[in-house]
Amino acid sequence: MIKPEAVAAGHTGKIIDMIISNGYRILALKYTRLSQEEAGVFYAVHKERPFYGELVDYMASGPIYAAILEKDNAVEDYRKLIGATDPAQAEEGTIRKRFAESKAKNAAHGSDSDANAEIEGNFFFSGRERF
Ligand code: ATP
Ligand code: MG
Repeated sequence: MIKPEAVAAGHTGKIIDMIISNGYRILALKYTRLSQEEAGVFYAVHKERPFYGELVDYMASGPIYAAILEKDNAVEDYRKLIGATDPAQAEEGTIRKRFAESKAKNAAHGSDSDANAEIEGNFFFSGRERF
């Protein structure tokens, strides 16, 4: 996902360009907005964390881009491309270093495993929306 504040700030094109030029194929892409309930389900793994309420409000605060990306070793490499959760810790040239506002508003989301990538892809896309 490209998160709401990065979309609102006009960073979408540059972020998608970084993704494509780093060797990813975009299988599916959608401009959409999560309801509070959907954002809560998407990030349910963090339900017990103190920042959960803030995270859900933020992720439902405006439209996002959701995508399914394909590449060898995609999960690990994409997490390197987006950089550390906190942009202050992210390496130069990463998406979060370039575009994140803060640890909370950090521009992009990446799946943390192949299994979660499948669950998250199915959350946003039907079979006829991916090529
Ligand atoms: P994501 O899952 O969105 O790709 P991540 O895997 O780098 O991010 P997680 O630990 O899964 O980080 O946290 C999910 C999201 O919750 C973060 O991307 C950020 O938006 C928010 N978040 C994490 N830690 C904090 C915090 N301490 N304070 C506020 N928000 C936070
Ligand atoms: Mg995560």
